[in-house]
Amino acid sequence: MKYDEQIYRPPKEYKSILLQVTSGCTHNKCKFCGMYRYTNFKMESLEQIEKDIIEASNHPFYRNTKRLFLLNGNPFVLQTERLLKIAELIHRYLPKVEVITTYASIKDIERKNDEELKALKEAGYNDLYIGVESGNQEALTFINKGNTVEEAIREMKRLDKFDYYYYAMILTGLMGKGVDKAIENGRKTGEMLSQVNCRGIFPMSVTIVPGTELWEMYANGEYEEATEYDRLIELREILENLNPQKTALISSAHNSNTMYIKGIVPTEKDRLINEIDEILSEASPEEMQEWIDRRRIRL
Ligand code: SF4
Repeated sequence: MKYDEQIYRPPKEYKSILLQVTSGCTHNKCKFCGMYRYTNFKMESLEQIEKDIIEASNHPFYRNTKRLFLLNGNPFVLQTERLLKIAELIHRYLPKVEVITTYASIKDIERKNDEELKALKEAGYNDLYIGVESGNQEALTFINKGNTVEEAIREMKRLDKFDYYYYAMILTGLMGKGVDKAIENGRKTGEMLSQVNCRGIFPMSVTIVPGTELWEMYANGEYEEATEYDRLIELREILENLNPQKTALISSAHNSNTMYIKGIVPTEKDRLINEIDEILSEASPEEMQEWIDRRRIRL
């Protein structure tokens, strides 16, 4: 299999076939993100993609795999015709694959009309991972996300219309230090996610990565990093304001988080909030600060 750069994939895709169809990210401007900072976006050739699919089909483990994850930053940006061709190749050589999953940006979804979204769903595309980050417009503008909160809600609702499963990846601590900021971000993110039907909500916590714009602001004293206490308060506030019509899994199983929570919202919301309150009552903000060494995550 051909892999040109470091691979990023969601934890849930640990058993999936990882197929490179693009390199880099077309946006590549989020202030906090260093994932594809030095990679120019390019499409993989269909010849290479077919070769890799055939290789996977000959592999004793991959041959029976039901999920396939497309690499890299936002493969859903590809033209619908190309995505359909890739799906056709996958189903031809790997008939057991039931779900073709990938990262997708709000703008990638927006560029596809209803007929295209429907055709892609029918071709097996599903379980889209979306970097929603925040429901606070100020935060999205600050990080250069490239889409508005309004657009995010509208596009996720379009996915709902075609019964897509999709997962919202959100970031606590984006606006930096301060409980007030944490509460505002948390509330707005919870309210935003209550308007749509994500199947999964995956909170992560912003980590300042060297080489990023956020790192420069931090080094120049223009950005003060959120404390671990701020981040927990924000997570609590997200839960407090999360009332989706359909149930969704929420899991903070990412090493950038201070605390691991997992449950179904809104049904298990009270339990999850109680778990956070227990920690908040047992440890001081200073003790919490010692729990996680963000310098290690950065390296
Ligand atoms: S966070 Fe996502 S959309 Fe933003 S630059 Fe990184 S990979 Fe691209």
